[in-house]
Amino acid sequence: MEHSTEKKLANLLKLQQIDSKIFEIKKVRGALPEEVQDLEDEIIGYNTRLDNFKNDIDNKNNDIENLKNKVSEAKKLIKKYKDQQMNVRNNREYDAISKEIELQELDSKLFVKKSGENELKIEDIKEDVKSTKKVIKERNQILKSKKADLDVLSDESKEEEKKLDSLKTKASKKIEASLLLSYEKLVNRQRNGLAVVKVSRSACGGCFNIVPPQRQAEIKEKKKIILCEYCGRILADVIAEKIIEKPKKRTKRKTATKAKKTTVKAKKTTVKAKKTTVKAKKTTVKAKK
Ligand SMILES: [Zn+2]
Repeated sequence: MEHSTEKKLANLLKLQQIDSKIFEIKKVRGALPEEVQDLEDEIIGYNTRLDNFKNDIDNKNNDIENLKNKVSEAKKLIKKYKDQQMNVRNNREYDAISKEIELQELDSKLFVKKSGENELKIEDIKEDVKSTKKVIKERNQILKSKKADLDVLSDESKEEEKKLDSLKTKASKKIEASLLLSYEKLVNRQRNGLAVVKVSRSACGGCFNIVPPQRQAEIKEKKKIILCEYCGRILADVIAEKIIEKPKKRTKRKTATKAKKTTVKAKKTTVKAKKTTVKAKKTTVKAKK
């Protein structure tokens, strides 16, 4: 597929126009697709947290169960020791058993305390579960509405996108593979999705840096593909500068408004001047008298 550079540039421009339309459609959707994705990820994260809380509660309940068993064992021991104490042969034996009882009582107290602490922790975690569930509910509501918005936008542009996609495929086929690859790379690199631009008012249509007249002349010749030396975009053409004889309508109106304002100012000055004249006259009259 051998094309003249002029034809290549024209084909590139055509593809760029299609891509720009696709870009605009996607821009309307804005950050919505990403926001939906972020929310979905966030909700997954919260659900994991919820699972962790539930595991925590289960573990703490197991601990409490174990501690309670230990307490009842200690109580059994204490009862056994107290029975033994009734049948001791001497004071030494009595004291030794007393110590054991004391130890078991201390242990028992410690187990009860730990058990209580765990119960408090469970209450805290339950609060966390509650607030996390609330957040999940809120996020789900936001997600639902954002998804609905996205669906509406996608539905609206579905047909047009399909059309543009097939146009893009067609237009792409007219461009040689290596050039197409460079073009695609360039499109993806630019935030505004522009890879092929025209020179307008002596400036690159992509980055608005000035393109020197000599270069503009070369671009107009279309003998080779010329890139903007600042942004690397393909400069496909030069928009002929219109020789402006009369200002454009909009400019005119602006100028007119400015002119009016000036007139008003001038009038005010005139009024002031008149007043001064009147004053002067009065003074003259006074002087005459
Ligand atoms: Zn540029």
